[in-house]
Amino acid sequence: MSTMWDQFRVKEGDKVDLKKWDTSYKGDLTKEEVYDHLLPANGEAFREAQEVMYADNQHGLIIVIQAMDAAGKDGLIKKVLTYINPQGLKVIPFDEPTADEQDHDYLWRCNQALPRRGEVAVFNRSHYEDVLVTRVHKLLDGSQLPEDLVDKKIWCRRYKQIRNWEEYLEENGFHILKFFLHVSKNEQAERLLERVVQPNKNWKFSSSDIRERKYWKEYQKIYEELMEETSTDGAPWFIIPADRKWYTRYVVSEILKEFFQKLDITYPKLAKEEEDLLADAKESLMKDLGLKEEDLDKYRG
Ligand code: ATP
Ligand code: MG
Repeated sequence: MSTMWDQFRVKEGDKVDLKKWDTSYKGDLTKEEVYDHLLPANGEAFREAQEVMYADNQHGLIIVIQAMDAAGKDGLIKKVLTYINPQGLKVIPFDEPTADEQDHDYLWRCNQALPRRGEVAVFNRSHYEDVLVTRVHKLLDGSQLPEDLVDKKIWCRRYKQIRNWEEYLEENGFHILKFFLHVSKNEQAERLLERVVQPNKNWKFSSSDIRERKYWKEYQKIYEELMEETSTDGAPWFIIPADRKWYTRYVVSEILKEFFQKLDITYPKLAKEEEDLLADAKESLMKDLGLKEEDLDKYRG
């Protein structure tokens, strides 16, 4: 059976031609079906699974979200990732690097944003900006990176550094899922126009959105290359159709559910001393409440 995990994943070593990947959805699912049934059910499933991961306290998950402007990163976080218990979730936006961040290597701020074991960290943009916007706008020219290190091969080296960093995390129990929200240029224009004409969306509009649109082709080309170079079995890229927001959200929720199913962890087993402690506690509480063994059913949930 083909799963969404397989359908939308860039397999290690595959070539990527974004024009061949759907931005839209033409199937039979409806928005109502997704919002009323499918998304809540998936959300509930991965919320519970994350709680098990939290209790188990061994694995961590990093979710990278990358996209062109207005592709729906914020909405995805708001409508899908909030199913996760806030105690086990953190969301980190990566904006233009601050002076302090520029004083360090580009992965420094990502290292600071990593989750603890049991947690999920959502990267709203990520280290991938450092092979994207940085490349499109030649931001390394005149930067603090030593001049002799800025040559034609720098992007190849960065892909290698990113692969190695992600592999290192994977080998230490931290999993990485990377989502590219694939929006069409036309749909982006419509969404930006909404930001311009709807007063309660004006705050979201930035004049840089129009400027960046002019570099559309370059961005798409680099996205293709970076996904070819950095989609691995351990840290895969998924290309998610993003012209229908409800469909984007549904697909990501399915992939998250599948991820936790594959992870296949259960609540931790108690050690003998811990079981003895529970037995003592049970006896003492039953005594306080004046209960017998047969009264316990309602406490078993
Ligand atoms: P939206 O999609 O809603 O517009 P956004 O993610 O674009 O949200 P903004 O605050 O508008 O949020 O933009 C963040 C900006 O920071 C982006 O233009 C991004 O390219 C830029 N940025 C992120 N990382 C880097 C980096 N390493 N170097 C330079 N610019 C960066
Ligand atoms: Mg923006």
